[in-house]
Formats: sequence, structure tokens, C-alpha cells
Amino acid sequence: EAAEEVERRNRIFAAAQERYYEHPPQIQRGWRHHLVDTTGRAYIDMVNNVAGLGHGHPKIAAVANRQLRTLATNSRFLFRELAEYSEALLALMPEDSDLDTVLLVNSGSEAVDLAIRLAQAATGRRTVIALREAYHGWTMASDAVTTSAYDNPFALATRPDWVHVADVPNRFRGTYRGEGTTAPYLADLADDIEDLQRDDREVAAFLCESILGNAGGVLLPEGYLAGAYAQVRAAGGLCIADEVQVGFGRMGSSFWGFEQSGVIPDIVTIAKPMGNGFPIGGVITSKRIADALATQGQFFSSAGGSTLSCAVGLAVLDAMVEDDLQRNARDIGARLADGLRGLAARHPLIGVVHGEGLYLGVELVRDRESMEPAATEAAAICERLRELGVIVLTTSERSNVLKIKPPLCLTAQSADHVVAMLDRVLSEGW
Ligand code: PMP
Repeated sequence: EAAEEVERRNRIFAAAQERYYEHPPQIQRGWRHHLVDTTGRAYIDMVNNVAGLGHGHPKIAAVANRQLRTLATNSRFLFRELAEYSEALLALMPEDSDLDTVLLVNSGSEAVDLAIRLAQAATGRRTVIALREAYHGWTMASDAVTTSAYDNPFALATRPDWVHVADVPNRFRGTYRGEGTTAPYLADLADDIEDLQRDDREVAAFLCESILGNAGGVLLPEGYLAGAYAQVRAAGGLCIADEVQVGFGRMGSSFWGFEQSGVIPDIVTIAKPMGNGFPIGGVITSKRIADALATQGQFFSSAGGSTLSCAVGLAVLDAMVEDDLQRNARDIGARLADGLRGLAARHPLIGVVHGEGLYLGVELVRDRESMEPAATEAAAICERLRELGVIVLTTSERSNVLKIKPPLCLTAQSADHVVAMLDRVLSEGW
């Protein structure tokens, strides 16, 4: 039956449409941090960061159902939910910030697109600096700043002239590996900005994730984001934090990823967990920046900021507090990271365990000195884990990092079980 479904999928989908696993399970339903296939087999879902609250949350289902029957319409009318939801999102921003304006859309890609447009409109400039090894979306603009060779190998060669790609401050790899300092990365960024200015390509914005999500949850070197933001602002540019993956409580010790670095962005993009599976995205910025959009005409999205997405979004925020999920991300994340680092002490295939809270990455290498990526091993380990009932997948443009970003309701028992299963698989010899 699975083979038939794969064949069916191949027939009606484009070749580029990503599929996990050679023989993917046919997933039928989800419950909390579990997925269940058509044969009734349950898996622990360690990758689904859209269902932040967990799959099948009854309160969200009830609110969506009620709102669909009451009113599902666009944001051009007045309705209380739109103001309430926007205010609730703004209340999550740092107190001493001027992040006081919300624009709602439907996905992370749209949010990144809009953030770029806002920065270009507000500065009257075009150039956007993006970091290497990043994923920011599939739409024209968000794809143009997607720099991971895995996600967008062609755009690395054919990038539009408004994009400048800066080196990624991944201190585990590359030119400055192991130097333990942020200074060389910042010096290079300063050179980049100077070069751009010399070429009359004034910087509109600097865009990055607050931890390197696509690279596998690699934390930025201390001081990098603060230094980069200072340089960009000194050059008259704006700073965009892409919080689509790492925001919304996943870091555990902070609600937003950028808070880990003690910075405040000018524009924040949000999406994935906002609707717990219902599509919601947004941009949060200051009124000054948002109002620049008026110079280009009106802004409107048919479903962005609809009564339905606002009702669902509000319910998600309530449930996050009710279920105490940020604290759970902190505590269970720390427990999981401890367990995984314990495995690293015994299994040389684990080069390093990245991340924070419930955004972790287990980087597999053939040799810790050279950090040669163990990509085929990583893929085979994911297959073995699936056989053992654990869904873990790979990330990074080297495909050698096990990405761990489960629903935030993950339990201690399941976290320990995943560590035990990975221990078992690694012990099979690689
Ligand atoms: N930004 C980041 C950091 C992401 O991880 C993603 C999705 N993986 C996006 C943007 C795009 O979001 P979406 O898939 O909702 O369009």
C-alpha cells in the first residue's frame, strides 16, 4: 500500500516537492507529540515544530470550528479578534522596544517577503544581507535570501543583485572554526558593508535567524548578533530577525530567539507555530517602518488576519500559557540535551550537540577533528529510528545533523526514550 501511495504521489507531484524517507509512513492522525500511521503504529514526533502545542489540541479544534461557523472573513472589517490578537502578539515583545505594529499574513515565506519589502520601503534602499546556510522560504524574495546549498543550490549562482550573502558565523566549521571569538566574523561583515557602500549598494536590511536553524540549531557566537546589528544600523540599515522557526517559546529560557543575544530587531517575522497547524504568519515592526508601506499603496491579504486566524491565534497563545509550554521547552530541552551530550561521550559519530530548549541538532561526523559530515550515516540512522518508532530527520546543507524540534509538549518519558533509542541505534556500529 505504501509503495502505491509513493507511486501516486510521484505521478501527481512535482519532482522538487520534498518527501521524507525512502518509504514514508502513511500518517493518519496525531495526538500531542505522537503521530499514528494507517496501520495503527505510533511514532514519537521529534520534528514537527508547527504543532507547537502538540497535534490535535482539542481547544484549538473547538475554537476553529466555532469561528468557521460564526464568521470567517477578511481583515477589512472591524472585528474585536483582530485587535485583540495583534495586541496579544505585541505584548510578547520586549517592553523597551518600539515593536508596536502587526501585519498578519499566512506563512513564514510571506512574512519574510513582507519584511524585506518593508525594510526596502522604509530605507529607500534595496540591498539585503543574508547569511550563508539559511532557509527563509519559497516565495520569490524569501527564496532569493535562502542561501542553503541544499534548499537552493541554483540561487547561489543566480542570486538577484539586491541580495548580498555574508559568511555564516558557524564556529564549528569554516575559516574561523574553533577560534572561540566573534571578532573575525564581525570584521568580515564590516568589510562586506564597506564594499557594498563603495558599489552604491546601500544596505536596507540584515536578515538572519537568531540561532542558525537550518544549519542544525547552531548557536551564534556570543556577541555576534549585537555586533552585527550595531554595524548595520550605523550604516543606516534595518535588522530583521526571522523567528519563524526558533520563536514562540521554543528556546525555553526566552520566548524569542533574539532575546538569547540581548538584541532588539527592527522587524520580526513569525509563523509556523502561531496557528498550531492552521496557517498564520506575521510581521511585527515599528509604526514608522510599517507606515512606509503606504507609499506603495494598500496592503491586504484575503486570509491573513481573518476572523478565523485571529481566533485560532489567540487560542494558541492562551493554550501555550495554560499548558506552560515555554517552561516545558526549557526543562525537557535541558534534559534531552543532557541525554544527547551523554551519548556524545560514548559515540564518536556525534561531533557536537547544538541548540537550546527544544531546538536541538545532533551533528554526525566521521571524524571530530576534520568534522567530515556523516550524511549517509545520518540518513540510515533516521530510517532505523523510524523502525523503532521515532521520527527524526536530517538538516543542514551537509544533511548530517539530526534535527530535534518536537512539539513543545514533549514529556520527560518520551525524551528519555528517544535518547535510549538513539543510543541503541548508534551502538549497532557505523
Ligand atoms: N523562515 C524560516 C527560518 C523557516 O524555517 C521557514 C520554514 N521552514 C520559513 C521562513 C518559511 O515558512 P513557510 O514554510 O511557512 O512559508
